[in-house]
Parts: sequence; C-alpha cells; structure tokens
Amino acid sequence: MNKRHVSVSGVRLKFASAHMATLGNELEPLHGHNYSVSVKVEGSLTNDFWVIDFSKIKGITRDICDQLDHKFLLQAKSNLLSSTLEQETWHLSFDNRVYQLPQSDVAVLAIENTTAELLAEWICHQIDKELLHNKQANITLITVEVEEMPGQSGGFQLERSLIED
Ligand SMILES: [Zn+2]
Repeated sequence: MNKRHVSVSGVRLKFASAHMATLGNELEPLHGHNYSVSVKVEGSLTNDFWVIDFSKIKGITRDICDQLDHKFLLQAKSNLLSSTLEQETWHLSFDNRVYQLPQSDVAVLAIENTTAELLAEWICHQIDKELLHNKQANITLITVEVEEMPGQSGGFQLERSLIED
C-alpha cells in the first residue's frame, strides 16, 4: 500500500500547563511549560485523494490541547505522587509536600508520569479515538510530538489496525 502523510503544527496547537513530574524517587517542584504539539498521520488516500482534511486533524488536536490548557496535569497512575479527590478538591501528597487543587483546575490523565513522552502517548490515544469516531479508517499510523520548550520534545507513535465496516 502506498503511504502518504499529512503533518500539522502551529500557533493554536499549544497548551500552557503546570505539572510536577517524578524522576527516580524525586518529585520536581511545581512549574509549567508552554507546550507545542505536532501531529503526523499516515495512511492511504481516500477516494477523493486526501489522507485527512487539514482542518479536521487540526480541530481534533486543538480540542485535545484545550482540555489541557491552563490546567495542572495530574499523573493519576503515579506510584509516587498520591492523589485523592474529595469534595471537588484534589489532594496531592509526596513526602511532606501537600497540595490542594480545585477539581476544575486539574486535567486528570491516566498515565504514570507527566513526561513529554507520556503526554504524547496520551494525546495520540485521544486522536485515535476521535479518528475512530470519525470512521477515518484509512489512517494507519499516528505520530505525536510534544515539545516542552524549544529543542526539547518527546514523542509517541501509534500503529492503528484498520477497522473494516
Ligand atoms: Zn516540566
């Protein structure tokens, strides 16, 4: 099969978020990044010679960025940072450090750590779900790059099994 691809990135595929990643047995201080996302999708052409409409893949990615923008990114599957939700407040603790955040300020992600690599993986799976929802079965490979700061990014690639209707 001939593979083509389209790539998108740009000023609106960004999110500004706070996080604390763990490194070894340590927890970073609370800080934030202006993240940039780029997405490449590969696959065969549709009958009208598109891999995917640029505006569609940009829109999907933008909606995902919006879910993370101006939030604290919580690694809900962390073994080191404990997190519990009580009465619309997240209680986070690590050693003697304790944080309380309103639920509305937190993006809860089912990942082990908020590294750029795992954020890219999480975004990749969200895009995959949306493409499935849009019956975009010609797309076989999704690659996501998440840049924490210029020159520093993590990525993930998801191979999709083609779904036949
Ligand atoms: Zn960071």
